[in-house]
Amino acid sequence: GEKTPTDLNQLVEDYLRLAYQNVRAKDESFEADLRLELDHGLEKIPVMAQEMSRVLLNLYSNAFYAVQEKRRQQNGRFQPQVTVSTHTINGKVEISVKDNGTGIPTTILNKIYQPFFTTKPTGQGNTGLGLSLSYDIVTKGHGGEMAVQTEEGEYTKMIVSLPVAP
Ligand code: ADP
Ligand code: MG
Repeated sequence: GEKTPTDLNQLVEDYLRLAYQNVRAKDESFEADLRLELDHGLEKIPVMAQEMSRVLLNLYSNAFYAVQEKRRQQNGRFQPQVTVSTHTINGKVEISVKDNGTGIPTTILNKIYQPFFTTKPTGQGNTGLGLSLSYDIVTKGHGGEMAVQTEEGEYTKMIVSLPVAP
């Protein structure tokens, strides 16, 4: 793919709204607090915008799934939050997606990037390929890195870091 200078803040925000609309189109009763903590000093970064948008959509759909699941577990008495932030640190841009959903058990943490690994029921388009594909796009496609911070039952924060200069 071709890398073009891209306003990542814009991409991050646009696809967050799109992902939220997609979820709400299937469940009108679902509401989440969406929080954006954007680094407005961020310069345009050369990325394959279409590929990066797929990464964002994967991370967002996982985040929304995790908060919906927790909302079901708590019979609706739970306020979903998804916080997306960008910031520049040591010549890298970090994009993080944090949800206050189910979290990831430590026992499966080493499997989440494996192709076809999923804990979700089949037949709903969750093929277990989202993070595997995202990992390849970020690392092989952009020379970046992915990391995860999570606590079961509390939160998950996925962090994508990309070099500012290729
Ligand atoms: P899929 O979403 O199709 O299951 P992914 O590759 O996107 O596949 O994710 C793999 C697995 O990682 C998920 O099935 C889930 O168990 C776990 N996971 C990923 N993101 C989150 C998240 N934000 N919160 C909780 N679990 C997650
Ligand atoms: Mg997924």
